[in-house]
Amino acid sequence: MSLRHSITAAAVTFALSVTALNCQAIEVSEKANALAQENIIVDGHIDVPYRVHDKWVDVTRATEDGDFDYPRAKKGGLNAPFMSIYVPASLDNSPESTQLAHQLIDLVQAIVYRAPDKFAIATSADEVRAQFDKGLISLPMGMENGSPIQGDMANLEHFYERGIRYITLAHSQSNHISDSSYDLRRQWKGLSPFGKKLITRMNEIGMLIDISHVSDDAFHQVIELSEVPVIASHSSLRNFTPGFERNMSDTMIKKLGHNGGIVMINFGSGFVSKAARQWRDGLAKATNAFLRKKDNSKSDIDAFEKQYRKENPYPYSSLDEVLDHIDHVVELIGIEHVGIGSDYDGVGDSLPTNLKDVAAYPNLVQGLLNRGYSEADIKKLLGENFLRVWKEVEDFASTQ
Ligand SMILES: [Zn+2]
Repeated sequence: MSLRHSITAAAVTFALSVTALNCQAIEVSEKANALAQENIIVDGHIDVPYRVHDKWVDVTRATEDGDFDYPRAKKGGLNAPFMSIYVPASLDNSPESTQLAHQLIDLVQAIVYRAPDKFAIATSADEVRAQFDKGLISLPMGMENGSPIQGDMANLEHFYERGIRYITLAHSQSNHISDSSYDLRRQWKGLSPFGKKLITRMNEIGMLIDISHVSDDAFHQVIELSEVPVIASHSSLRNFTPGFERNMSDTMIKKLGHNGGIVMINFGSGFVSKAARQWRDGLAKATNAFLRKKDNSKSDIDAFEKQYRKENPYPYSSLDEVLDHIDHVVELIGIEHVGIGSDYDGVGDSLPTNLKDVAAYPNLVQGLLNRGYSEADIKKLLGENFLRVWKEVEDFASTQ
């Protein structure tokens, strides 16, 4: 879930003509399609629950809007999309945050109950493999924002029992666990005292730690404290977006490599390219100036943004630019430490050309083949790297 999307909670769906102009369709070979279908594809972060919570839709069938539904997931070869149990930062440490997390978990369960021939919850790496063999799409769950823990380890354990397998420690604001990359207030200078204890407990019970969204200081403290590899469920690289702390610096990536962890690349153009970041900053500036002039309603702001987009076409990034992020991680720490964290259904209308929805993983595979990646390396990136980390976390917990 992107910051802006979480604020407006509205996917803007137009500018398709611009997409069409920029889009040079990639030629997908039989081999790329076969690799997508025959290997396990794990996606670290897809915002289906909040999308459905916002506007109900049956994703077990084809849907007109959004980036995910069953037929498109099948076409793309997707096997284990982590369903994001996203809780807005404004609810930090409140009973409402815990309540919302439970409701979103119920919602994922409802998807499975509606179509048990298509989907199943997964709570372990082995379950993902077993369900892959049965032709089912696994829906593991990760909680985006630790605020529903409410400073109580019993809540952590309860969410584990309910099927949550990773927790993104914070979202867009500093919370009772950790500082956030988006929030200039650094109340903890990293992790809070409770946050530090939480890391240890997460290790003990086998809850994966997700460092996407947290501040640099929090990241470094997590790496010091965690006895197992950690994940960045949906982050890209600061090397390509200078100054954007939400993405990972080279120093952090090297540290993540030593830790044995994995960075799962976010596809949102604003995470991928400098041009898209600058466009977003320009829009924010223009919107602020517009808001200062008069008291505007939500529809006035939407109309303003629509006009702005018309006059300043959004610079969608490309599949090639996403591949540059993957190449850079590989150069720094090797193929074993990179994966996919698309942020589908979480970044609105900002996805790169050729990576518009969950049907597009074969395009990514083709891009990797074109760049000379071996089948074995592609298999690692698609899912095996993540499953290795998950297993390591499970194995550590089983010895506690
Ligand atoms: Zn997010």
